[in-house]
Amino acid sequence: MNLVLVGPPGAGKGTQAQHLVSRYGFVQLSTGDMLRSAVKAGTDIGRKASTIMEAGGLVPDDIVIGIIAERIDHPDCAKGIVFDGFPRTLRQAAALDTMLAAKGRTLDCVIELKVDDVALIARISSRFTCAQCGAVFNEIDKPTKVAGTCDTCGGREFFKRPDDTAEKVKARLWDYYRATSPLIGYYYAKGKLVSFDGMAPMGDVSLALDTMMTKMAA
Ligand code: AMP
Repeated sequence: MNLVLVGPPGAGKGTQAQHLVSRYGFVQLSTGDMLRSAVKAGTDIGRKASTIMEAGGLVPDDIVIGIIAERIDHPDCAKGIVFDGFPRTLRQAAALDTMLAAKGRTLDCVIELKVDDVALIARISSRFTCAQCGAVFNEIDKPTKVAGTCDTCGGREFFKRPDDTAEKVKARLWDYYRATSPLIGYYYAKGKLVSFDGMAPMGDVSLALDTMMTKMAA
């Protein structure tokens, strides 16, 4: 099964992708994570992407499509993929259709997480990441259980993403409405779109996804 998670930054795509990975064994392909790794490793792609990412803009389609094309060839992807943060433009969506079709695969479902802009800005501005394992938290609705200690690995060092400031979130939201939100109509027209209330507590969203998965398997 292949799924796409779509929604503005901070909608909970990464959290729900993690849920789908741990519960159903999907491989999570997050273009944001892949690009951040490329920036950290100082690769050619990383150098091209870093300034754009810091400004909260969209990395060119060809770069992102290239990263995904290379990654979905890996054998671990055969068991099912949850795309997190990809596609983000209609061109990327068309490229994904072509890439999957070339492998005799299809996209089974597109999960939209709907959220309120004001809440999003607050959620993202308070987001922080464990420096040891990369688990993501936020002070509003996903704090660590013990203050200053990562729930996943016990790490005590955290960092904030440089693009998680209120000003850059506004730029990223603009890109979402301009370039990504047309995907909602694109996938609706294909009969693939299922929308969820991303403002609900994260555990409730995960339960709603489980109900959807059960229905799809029936
Ligand atoms: P994310 O972790 O999904 O919020 O992505 C972080 C940043 O990486 C975005 O603000 C973009 O600059 C870049 N990025 C991630 N995925 C894509 C994509 N599919 N297309 C273009 N840029 C992307």
